[in-house]
Amino acid sequence: MKKALFLDRDGVVNVEKDYLYKIEDFEFINGIFELCRYYENMGYLIFVVTNQSGIARKYYTQKDFITLSNWMSKEFLKHGIEISKVYHCPHHPDISGECSCRKPKSGMLLEAKNEFEIDMKNSIIIGDKERDIEAGLNAGLCETYLFDESSNIKNSKATKIVSKLRDIYNVNTQ
Ligand SMILES: [Mg+2]
Ligand SMILES: [Zn+2]
Repeated sequence: MKKALFLDRDGVVNVEKDYLYKIEDFEFINGIFELCRYYENMGYLIFVVTNQSGIARKYYTQKDFITLSNWMSKEFLKHGIEISKVYHCPHHPDISGECSCRKPKSGMLLEAKNEFEIDMKNSIIIGDKERDIEAGLNAGLCETYLFDESSNIKNSKATKIVSKLRDIYNVNTQ
């Protein structure tokens, strides 16, 4: 069984912008490639798990999302990093009804578990919202990180709240 690093997208991989779908608006967060390289070298598979209710809201299409995801994965590859799969939830409960994939639900993580035989207990999730952490806990993960660049969040179920991505894997940087 393989370990996984689950990454939320908006606010972790890229700078959060409302209902982002254009390549030109996509701005990688400082340190994301270094973080991924570290975990890839440690044998983790890397997945992106992202709520994309902008699709349900018709702000952009599934095709727009896939185009952006393919571009993003290629940018990672240029840095020598393989994203094993990007999972997304296109739903919104008020528009498309309840689903099992929208975080804090664990559907996307469980899909990866089944598809790639992931050892969930030894896997990690990094998110910028509490619902990312809850999705990880709901999927049986033990190690969860809340990334909060502003250092405003004081309470979380996460293992640790960090303001820099490197604080997740570099225990000497504090
Ligand atoms: Mg986010
Ligand atoms: Zn969904």
